[in-house]
Amino acid sequence: MTGPDPQKLLDAIAEEIRDHVPCGFAICEQATHLVPGEGSATAEVMLVGEAPGAKEDETGRPFVGAAGRLLDALLAEAGLARADVFITNVVKARPPGNRDPKADEVAHHLPWLEAQLDVIRPKLLVPLGRHALARFAADAKISEVHGQVVERDGRRLFPMYHPAAALRNPRLRETLSEDARALRAAL
Ligand code: URA
Repeated sequence: MTGPDPQKLLDAIAEEIRDHVPCGFAICEQATHLVPGEGSATAEVMLVGEAPGAKEDETGRPFVGAAGRLLDALLAEAGLARADVFITNVVKARPPGNRDPKADEVAHHLPWLEAQLDVIRPKLLVPLGRHALARFAADAKISEVHGQVVERDGRRLFPMYHPAAALRNPRLRETLSEDARALRAAL
């Protein structure tokens, strides 16, 4: 007996996310598109950002703006292509004005991320930036744990700085490259 097809399960979660409104949460109801995430159901690496930005809201796809272009370059440095990984966010709707998501919005969206994780069961879960890291390791500081494997709740995390942080602070760019190479070695 084979189990359910993981790609079908992921597609069903994505459909539920896209069709989710109305729910009473402004963050969901004001979004142009909710952004479920995309990539391989059998990915060994799952990357989790914070929340969609303007370009992602417009297109319904994760990491397609400037931070996404940098993420693609980092994936290449890690020997990975987008098709090899799964990319999503903690929160699936763009917070108005790109503010940080609120605790109740995170709680509202978290079951989808957990469902995606249950299907994919990645070898390495890569929280991008301190907000995503906080969902998986509340006590960890990104400045201390980036670029290395951290075990939490039976999961292997490999935290990295958010690519958008390197766009604001170019000194982080080399750190991100080093961490991408360390990710390659950790696989
Ligand atoms: N930043 C994120 O955290 N996620 C995206 O999808 C795009 C930018």
